[in-house]
Amino acid sequence: MNAETIRSMISDFIAEDPGNSIPSGPRIFDAPLVGFADASDPIFDTFRKPGIVAPWHRHPRNWLPSARSVIAYFLPITDAILDTNIPGSKPSREWMFARFWGEAVNERLRRILVHRLEDGGHQAIAPLLSPLYRVEDMNANWSERHAAFAAGLGSFGLNRGLITKRGSAGRFGSVITSLPLPATSRTQDPFSACPNLTGGSCGACIDRCPVGAISSDGKDRDRCREYLQEQQGPSVRGEWGFPYSPCGKCYVATPCSQGLSCG
Ligand code: SF4
Ligand code: SF4
Repeated sequence: MNAETIRSMISDFIAEDPGNSIPSGPRIFDAPLVGFADASDPIFDTFRKPGIVAPWHRHPRNWLPSARSVIAYFLPITDAILDTNIPGSKPSREWMFARFWGEAVNERLRRILVHRLEDGGHQAIAPLLSPLYRVEDMNANWSERHAAFAAGLGSFGLNRGLITKRGSAGRFGSVITSLPLPATSRTQDPFSACPNLTGGSCGACIDRCPVGAISSDGKDRDRCREYLQEQQGPSVRGEWGFPYSPCGKCYVATPCSQGLSCG
């Protein structure tokens, strides 16, 4: 088992999984991006610093003492679904299914990756499937987006999304393993793909937010959460049975929704 077999495994799963489409609708995810980080990379220590993730963010070796690598991937949502979420202030039906059914696809992928690695004689764990995974004050003890940054998949934007070469709308996943894999190179600037954070231009996501939760100072996470859970949550739960509104208006119809070339 090597980097190429892992890339193929992830791509094949997304191409073939029957759950990768919404009911009577388009496919959820396009072909994934895959990257690798060295589990001993000092970047993982920085995620505990104030303002990055949280002091309780766990190092790969806290999850798996034999960890040598972190496999990270991005599952980009198809344009057919992205386009449905552009108008209005409510999330489209397709966008909601992509969020919640898409994450079910992502969970299966994490599980399958762990099993395949174990079958190959390696140790592996997906933190988001672990009973030790927890979220406190809106910050988790493992961040899929930060793992993806460490693995060279992109850099952060004003809306706090990770801008990859396939945009920022999609799901991220990761698996920590004892298998040594070649680390993917990454940008030294964690904000390099967002023109607003590098030079003050763009700012399209500011205007996209229906409740003014994004400004040139960044994203007001409390305001965003209140809109998703308290303002829109009851109607989404009542009509669709999903736990909250995934909104995502700041991830569509922006320059970075098409990828890294936005700068
Ligand atoms: S829309 Fe513009 S300012 Fe907002 S995250 Fe994307 S590139 Fe950055
Ligand atoms: S998810 Fe919606 S409410 Fe939250 S910042 Fe983006 S556009 Fe605003």
